[in-house]
Amino acid sequence: MDKTTCKHVYLFAEHREGVLLPVAVELLGKARELANALNEQVHAILAGKNVEALAGECIARGADAVIIAEAPELEFYSTEPHAQALFQIVTERKPAILLFGATTTGRDLAPRLSARLNTGLTADCTALDIADDGELLMTRPAFGGNLMATILCKEHRPRMSTLRPGVARPARRDNTREGRVERVNIRFDRSKFKTRILQTIKEERQRVDITAARVLVSGGRGMADGFTALEKLAAELGGEVSSSRAVVDAGIMPRERQVGQTGKTVRPDLYIAAGISGAIQHLAGMEESGYIIAINKDKSAPVFQVADLGIVADAARVVPLLTAKIKELRNNKNK
Ligand SMILES: Cc1cc2nc3c(=O)[nH]c(=O)nc-3n(C[C@H](O)[C@H](O)[C@H](O)COP(=O)(O)OP(=O)(O)OC[C@H]3O[C@@H](n4cnc5c(N)ncnc54)[C@H](O)[C@@H]3O)c2cc1C
Repeated sequence: MDKTTCKHVYLFAEHREGVLLPVAVELLGKARELANALNEQVHAILAGKNVEALAGECIARGADAVIIAEAPELEFYSTEPHAQALFQIVTERKPAILLFGATTTGRDLAPRLSARLNTGLTADCTALDIADDGELLMTRPAFGGNLMATILCKEHRPRMSTLRPGVARPARRDNTREGRVERVNIRFDRSKFKTRILQTIKEERQRVDITAARVLVSGGRGMADGFTALEKLAAELGGEVSSSRAVVDAGIMPRERQVGQTGKTVRPDLYIAAGISGAIQHLAGMEESGYIIAINKDKSAPVFQVADLGIVADAARVVPLLTAKIKELRNNKNK
């Protein structure tokens, strides 16, 4: 695509069951920031069936324009119909930058599209910035997470990136913002559809994804035998349990609960780190949390450098005491 004709920051606004995913709100915030630096506009792409109701939300959260592609073929996510829809929109509108959330959908759709558009994609970014010369700086872990690489896509357009959920600040809602809504008719080539969705069955899940939790009680190797106590504390606080990679590698917690560079980036209001040393790869995933409490028996553990409150003690003793105290305070309050 001729780079002199490409303009504006576009994002794929992912949604489910009539609401924008948190990552879409984060992308709107990031897109707004990039567009302001470039003096350009933010365009959100909404694909699906009956998605118009979400256009106002996109505008209130920073979009100048919302492009709506509605079709029965787009009701549920499927690679080929969505790739065709996005390909048509992108070739017609020529974005300078195109962003996706690094979700299962984004990770499936963005590479397919970048291959069709013959442009570069930097996947799983942890930071996006605009350089002084207007280049998009796309940063992501490289070489197995041992260093952070900043990647540029100088020659091809659009510059494409998937951004990890949780790394950008969600866009603030401003109901006074105005924007335009445009509809596009997608011309599908149905002969290329190789799969058909017959039914979608929702997985029964009791747990909240750790990137969406307001409170996280996280355990490390020093608390490897104490996850039942951590679960009780999390339940008392209305939060979720997460962990360091050491605990995941030991098979105690599932990978989806891992916080850190090769796990998830979290930003809860409260993060309690029990028996976690605070290795740089762990801190990378949680240091932006609102309030951090660290419990470690080693007073020189690096985790204390990012903690708002540090408790030097045996976490196996402190956690049940904390749980009991919170319960007591709650009971007193309810009396
Ligand atoms: C490329 C790469 C990517 C990585 N990605 C990640 C990642 O995404 N997330 C991640 O977490 N790690 C990651 N790691 C691993 C990371 O370097 C650390 O090894 C890991 O975070 C250590 O986990 P931990 O803090 O639970 O264990 P340890 O480092 O062994 O620390 C255990 C801590 O518990 C304390 N302790 C022991 N007993 C008690 C007790 N009874 N009460 C209180 N404190 C106690 C100890 O003092 C110690 O500080 C990565 C490493 C590499 C090389």
